[in-house]
Amino acid sequence: MEELRNPGIAPARRLAILGGTPAFAEPLHVGRPNIGDKGQFMARVSDILDLRWLTNNGPVVREFEQRIADHVGVKHCVAMCNATVALEIAYKAVGFAGEVILPSYTFVATAHALQWQGITPVFADIDPATHNIDPAAVERLITPRTTGIVGVHVWGRACDTEALADIAARHGLTVVYDAAHAFGCSHRGRMIGNFGACEVFSFHATKFVNSFEGGAVVTNDDALAERMRLMRNFGFMGLDRVEHLGMNGKMPEVCAAMGLTSLDAMDGIVAANRRNAETYRKAFQDLPGIDLCQFSEIERHNHQYVVAEVDGDTCPLTRDELIAVLHADNVRARRYFWPGCHGMEPYRTLQPDAGAGLPCTQRVSERVLVLPTGQSIDSQTVQTVVNIIRSATECADEVRAALTQAASGGVSP
Ligand SMILES: *Cc1c(COP(=O)(O)O)cnc(C)c1O
Repeated sequence: MEELRNPGIAPARRLAILGGTPAFAEPLHVGRPNIGDKGQFMARVSDILDLRWLTNNGPVVREFEQRIADHVGVKHCVAMCNATVALEIAYKAVGFAGEVILPSYTFVATAHALQWQGITPVFADIDPATHNIDPAAVERLITPRTTGIVGVHVWGRACDTEALADIAARHGLTVVYDAAHAFGCSHRGRMIGNFGACEVFSFHATKFVNSFEGGAVVTNDDALAERMRLMRNFGFMGLDRVEHLGMNGKMPEVCAAMGLTSLDAMDGIVAANRRNAETYRKAFQDLPGIDLCQFSEIERHNHQYVVAEVDGDTCPLTRDELIAVLHADNVRARRYFWPGCHGMEPYRTLQPDAGAGLPCTQRVSERVLVLPTGQSIDSQTVQTVVNIIRSATECADEVRAALTQAASGGVSP
């Protein structure tokens, strides 16, 4: 590891892919959970047990919802057991049916939550500059069966909400946002959570604010919020009256306790992410063919993802070759969202030709490399990760030969 920080001393020899000892003894994950104040969490759990109120809209869930709503500046927050169920409930509550247009470049749950209830996901291409759904592509895909649009604020960078709202208004469609990446982010000075009919956050363990598992829908629409509250709890209104088709989407109290603890720690998490992003940015400056996604300095941002784009023409190694190099050294970098939803089942079988209309999705999903960050990653670690990448690009031929040998059944790294 010392040698890796000192590229003067035959650094390439030290890469694990070339037979060296891995730079990290333990795997370095993207999205390793941020824990917050453990004592505070334990105290909250103790209170929950003393009160014997474990789930069903208890005081801790209500406090969590209030904190989220206050932070986002939105009228209603409906907490759920996870964001996938929250998306399903939101889609149903706004009346989605028939076809709904969404990006293929997203986590597969955005599409699954439609398909699960018999709604056809129609995949639109993205703007390669922002990785977000391209409004012009959306407009081309509208049919008489289209009922809505799902925008995903990929990496916490807002969709073109103005263009999407305009298209929706002209065609009588509803817009829902998958804001799983975008808690704590703003768009034109307004917090994400205030756009479309409603927006969905994820508080999964790998997200920067977490409640173990969890999600929430936020909205300024009173009737929609009420409908979602009913749907989250089997449609129950009171003890015996069922007023709506419903399911079980409730967040347990213990999850809300983690959520509150995580919210308490949020400023520190964002500061750590921001510092890491800056360290990566400086370290990557002179690396050819690798660009880091930059996020607007005038907006609020959570910096929960460090996203590099590897240009196969100018970088000596491809994205996938760099992934192999990093994994050998125990850096579990990820290629989100390769190959795009349209390349996954059941969509690959149901819509075999979808890829033809998604050239930017395909190109971006072949270039993106997501690197570890979060409170468990310090500047020294970031330097080491970048030095591994630098060393690999400096001896690309050797690396490629080692990868070819490994692939052909030779000594595996
Ligand atoms: C994490 C994530 C989800 C799913 O969230 P869960 O809480 O794990 O169900 C959905 N969409 C996107 C874009 C995500 O990143």
